[in-house]
Amino acid sequence: MAGIYIHIPFCRRKCGYCNFFSLATTRSREAFTSALVAELHFRAREAASEAVGTVYWGGGTPSLLEPIQFRRIMEAIHASYALEPDAEITLEANPDDLLDERLRAWKQGGVNRVSIGIQSFRQADLDYLERAHDAAQALRATDLCRKAGIDNLSIDLIYGIPGQGIGDWEENLRQFLRLGVDHLSAYALTLEERTILWHQVQRRQRKPPEDALAAQHFELMHRVLAAEGYAHYEISNLARNERYARHNTAYWNGIPYYGFGPSAHSFDGRRRYWNVSSLKDYIEALPLHVPMEGEEVLSLSDRINEYLMTSLRTQWGCRRRELLALGGEELLGRVGEGMTGFIRSSWVLEDPEGWKLSPEGMFHADGIAAELFVSHQG
Ligand code: SF4
Repeated sequence: MAGIYIHIPFCRRKCGYCNFFSLATTRSREAFTSALVAELHFRAREAASEAVGTVYWGGGTPSLLEPIQFRRIMEAIHASYALEPDAEITLEANPDDLLDERLRAWKQGGVNRVSIGIQSFRQADLDYLERAHDAAQALRATDLCRKAGIDNLSIDLIYGIPGQGIGDWEENLRQFLRLGVDHLSAYALTLEERTILWHQVQRRQRKPPEDALAAQHFELMHRVLAAEGYAHYEISNLARNERYARHNTAYWNGIPYYGFGPSAHSFDGRRRYWNVSSLKDYIEALPLHVPMEGEEVLSLSDRINEYLMTSLRTQWGCRRRELLALGGEELLGRVGEGMTGFIRSSWVLEDPEGWKLSPEGMFHADGIAAELFVSHQG
């Protein structure tokens, strides 16, 4: 079983904090669609023997495509890849793009899950983030999707925004709950180098995000949503009714995925490789070949460290059985020893299967995993 990722590199405007590969234009959508369709056909043999269980339209802003462009790409996916009949097909959409004809095209094209980039229901936060939509559009978004017949929804929110008090964040969470959506992806605002926000902070035009505020927001989110029956199944993802994001869960379980579009990454179980991060180079190359930018073959220590990093972020935790399969008794012993201090400080919980992070430990997952990393072997 494999996943397909489609990267749509257009945005209405560039949000200040964003470091994804995307351009604030919609000008080359037609040429891009033709290039993407060509790439889907060129690479069909890579996944020829695999059933595709998930398709994820990300970006950028997939909801900026016109219905005709969306349909051409969806047809190319169906023509070249073996989609499972119950495949999860997710499309990321921004609240200001939810026009009737687009929603209809997604539904007819098989999209059965929409992830809505709301980020906040509070106008001051949206202004800080320099989002293109407003709070009123954020409030209407879920209704529009449901009216179009898509009710498996996820909402993205951002916390730790300067000026967002703990009460403001709680109100965002309460508003999320009032909408009755089963899945939440919530990310701490981080300052990525060379973003617009990073330059503004360097020039002291904006306050930087603070870890202490984000930690408080994270703890509140865990508490408020747990009380409403949401499992915090990955650090940035919470779901009720077991509506876990299947596509992302497959990433964390090391399942192969094939990424299409500029900057998209692929993973075949052993090797990671990625396309050029330039729309112009992508469009120019594709009548003839797929413009790859790089690749890396994962060493054994890379695979161990990735397992430590991703497993500890999930509610299923780091399993003894997996460690044994990856690195034998020696690795198991080393990780067990490394966990001792974290168990003592209550950041890690141990059970017969392995180790999981406690709610307090979850906020420090990356640091804990880094302490356990193995150095180069294999
Ligand atoms: S809409 Fe998303 S991808 Fe586009 S600039 Fe904003 S955060 Fe980045």
